[in-house]
Amino acid sequence: MTARVLFSAHERHFETWADALLESIRDRGINVELDFRCADPARYDYVVYSPDSELTDFSRFVNLKAVLSLWAGVETLAGNETIGCPIARMVDPKMIEGMTEWVTCQVLRYHLNFDLFLAAKPGEWLNHMGPPLARDRTVAILGLGQMGQACAGTLAALNFRVVGWSRTAKNIDGITCLSGDAGLDSAVSEAEILVILLPHTAATDSMFNSTLFRKCRRGAVLINSGRGALIDDDDLVSALDDGTLAHATLDVFREEPLPVTHPFWHHPKVSVWPHISSDSRASTASAVIAENIHRGETGKPLLHLVDRLRGY
Ligand code: NAP
Repeated sequence: MTARVLFSAHERHFETWADALLESIRDRGINVELDFRCADPARYDYVVYSPDSELTDFSRFVNLKAVLSLWAGVETLAGNETIGCPIARMVDPKMIEGMTEWVTCQVLRYHLNFDLFLAAKPGEWLNHMGPPLARDRTVAILGLGQMGQACAGTLAALNFRVVGWSRTAKNIDGITCLSGDAGLDSAVSEAEILVILLPHTAATDSMFNSTLFRKCRRGAVLINSGRGALIDDDDLVSALDDGTLAHATLDVFREEPLPVTHPFWHHPKVSVWPHISSDSRASTASAVIAENIHRGETGKPLLHLVDRLRGY
């Protein structure tokens, strides 16, 4: 069997991914023709896709069996009406590992009050400002999927009181799991540290707005590594200005790169990160792509399929 695959991404990715993808697909006994430039759209069985690709119109890819996303977030694909085949998202163990490290670091920054001590002036001996133990700190993880569950588990293992929120009800050892509107209100009112790990969908668009911020525990901090469009930017600035929230660490934005004039760059209570909280790693993510191509070629159901109505 031969799979014809178009790798549709910014060309800076080609070198990183080419060998790993070819090796992983061939390891599964599949001949592969891997193109980095689209020759004839009708020729391809699979598109391996990154949102920094220029491809938006899939209508001429008439023989496509699947679009395989290199990213976990699929908001640019889920609503694309020119895609008539299944879409699979990326669930990469190393991406989950990276996100867990980044989120844990950001939570510990707030928990241990790093900024206060790093900014201390000579002679400013703040030994009355020591932090509580993690067991006395509540962290809310909003989104209990692949990323959220891994982060929640690591934080719970460090003894944080972890409250998680998701669309469907869950039961996870060591985590207080909530769902629904009442669950969200309860999670944000209890937590001192809020971590957003939700996808961007019609239901989550701008959900972090002044109405929700007013329900938060006063002085809570916000960490967003889900998607920028989950947050109403103006409402966040207002919530920081009036003390509703104490600080925000943002890794994702409505527009990326974040324009230099955007208020977030200049706000003393915002830390801007350039969408690096986690990335797919070619060494492990190629195996996920290869497994789905193998499944496609042998008539098995694909892994990590996107529910296009829900948008994730
Ligand atoms: P996932 O496994 O699909 O999990 C999504 C979670 O969000 C699930 O728990 C889901 O609930 C919950 N959810 C979705 N819509 C909801 C709603 N309307 N109300 C309440 N909960 C809702 O996704 P993932 O792999 O964990 O990734 C999550 C997001 O992180 C991605 O979509 C992406 O945007 C972002 N991400 C960012 C980076 C980065 O570098 N910054 C890297 C990777 C991922 P159910 O469990 O009930 O379905």
